[in-house]
Amino acid sequence: MKRIAERLQIRGPHVRLADWDPRATPGCKDRDSAAERLARNLERIDTLQYQLYAEARQALLIVLQGMDASGKDGVTRKVMTAFNPQGCKVWSFKVPTAEERAHDFLWRIHRATPPHGGVAVFNRSHYEDVLVVRVHSLVPREVWAGRYPIINQFEHQLHEHGTRVLKFFLHISRAEQRDRLLARLDHPNKNWKFNEGDIPEREHWNAYRRAYEDAIGRCSTAEAPWYVVPADHKWYRDLAVSEIVADTIAAMHPRPPKVKLDVKGLRARLARS
Ligand code: AMP
Ligand code: MG
Repeated sequence: MKRIAERLQIRGPHVRLADWDPRATPGCKDRDSAAERLARNLERIDTLQYQLYAEARQALLIVLQGMDASGKDGVTRKVMTAFNPQGCKVWSFKVPTAEERAHDFLWRIHRATPPHGGVAVFNRSHYEDVLVVRVHSLVPREVWAGRYPIINQFEHQLHEHGTRVLKFFLHISRAEQRDRLLARLDHPNKNWKFNEGDIPEREHWNAYRRAYEDAIGRCSTAEAPWYVVPADHKWYRDLAVSEIVADTIAAMHPRPPKVKLDVKGLRARLARS
């Protein structure tokens, strides 16, 4: 059977999100088997990260993008918790501060990339600079349009350093987004998550789609692939992300360094100490 990664990876430069059903569950039909597979994937991630950390020669960068309420926080809570916090950092990129705006758009991003042996999770990322920035014309067209090759070059540079870059677009439908925003109003303990600004953003749904199609199509490379994850079903979203992350680290073949120890001599010294 085809791995989920193979089914969801974007290869061509042209992406039509209309061809991707947010309710689909490719490679897994039912929720119960998904739960079992998710548990196994989380265990694999735990073991593999341990090796990555011990090896300290490669790194993993996971980018999470998606519309409001698409599940970026949910994936962080349900999947990224498999990582040992010692060796993993989560970064949430918000509206740039005055200091960040005074620098080039990659400044705040580059300093958050993972060191050898480490994992970084980006909740939003440098892609906002060709998404929200484009939709709201925050910079002139020629500026954001020039960013796609800059992003590709940047991610290539990370790859050369031994950093594997994975990018997930959590793909929800407009109706599902409304239901999730309504749920934030219905449940008092979710009220804090409600942001009035998310309502007018819904008016830009199609403009965001086009911006996503361009970003995903123009910046999906073999080195730093984009995956379109159908995300109306949270159980499928978590399964897909966990499986792709686990398979990716496994394919990096992290190996703790071989060290030459005089085990006998050291044992004897310890016994005497
Ligand atoms: P949230 O993820 O809901 O906490 O919201 C973060 C907000 O910051 C979103 O509305 C993003 O669109 C916005 N944001 C993130 N990066 C940028 C950026 N580079 N330029 C403008 N807005 C941004
Ligand atoms: Mg939000």
